[in-house]
Amino acid sequence: LTDRVVDLRLAGADDGGQLVTHVELASGDVVSCGRVVNCAGPRGRWIAEMAGLELPVEPRIRAAFIFACREALDGPTLPLTIDTTGVHVRTEPPHYLAGAPPLDDVEVDPDDFAVRHDQWEEVIWPALAHRIPAFERIGVTHSWAGHYAYNTLDHNAVVGPADAVPNFYFCNGFSGHGFQQSAGVGRGLSELITYGEYRTLDLAELGHDRIVRGEPFLEKAII
Ligand SMILES: Cc1cc2nc3c(=O)[nH]c(=O)nc-3n(C[C@H](O)[C@H](O)[C@H](O)COP(=O)(O)OP(=O)(O)OC[C@H]3O[C@@H](n4cnc5c(N)ncnc54)[C@H](O)[C@@H]3O)c2cc1C
Repeated sequence: LTDRVVDLRLAGADDGGQLVTHVELASGDVVSCGRVVNCAGPRGRWIAEMAGLELPVEPRIRAAFIFACREALDGPTLPLTIDTTGVHVRTEPPHYLAGAPPLDDVEVDPDDFAVRHDQWEEVIWPALAHRIPAFERIGVTHSWAGHYAYNTLDHNAVVGPADAVPNFYFCNGFSGHGFQQSAGVGRGLSELITYGEYRTLDLAELGHDRIVRGEPFLEKAII
């Protein structure tokens, strides 16, 4: 990675606040900037810290297990179905995809992509077989792991500028919802940057000010 952001340079603004003026890259290049958008996913906290800002986001591992089932299930296609334990499953034609929060759901190294296979054996498969008897006879075809950018305050995205550094914008902490929220957040942030206001959707409730105040805007639907 020659274009990895390694630091930010800030300078005092006329109103007494601070602004980001330059982005330093691993290559040694220094890029001047009018605005910075932090969209570094599970590593977003470290970009925020470069601007002296708090962001309670940490990498937490989540694995996906693709499995084949010999028997065809009755009824329509299996939609995303979530067990009370957090085990979830849906079709992934021609197979199925399942996952669950890990047994030990803590911050991990952002370079740790190891699939926790004990999670499949001890948690996911038993829960699937309990709910859907045909899933007693299944086999994992492949699996992979990634990271949630997990917002420990309220499991919700942090979107918009930092009051203390007004040209630093957050686009972080999606906590496992980033794909579905990306269209709205992308549009909202582009409006904020272009017009100085939200025009289509008001995303103010996702603002960083709630982090500073320590007031959660809780998202309960997280798996
Ligand atoms: C197993 C799993 C299942 C999921 N399922 C769903 C789902 O069903 N629905 C849903 O909506 N979401 C789901 N998600 C969440 C979704 O994938 C994420 O919310 C989304 O990808 C986050 O996008 P992002 O652009 O914020 O971050 P990322 O896609 O992580 O992108 C961050 C980028 O920043 C770069 N970066 C980091 N640090 C630096 C740096 N210092 N300098 C330069 N670049 C840097 C990284 O290289 C990366 O390219 C799932 C996630 C996982 C792991």
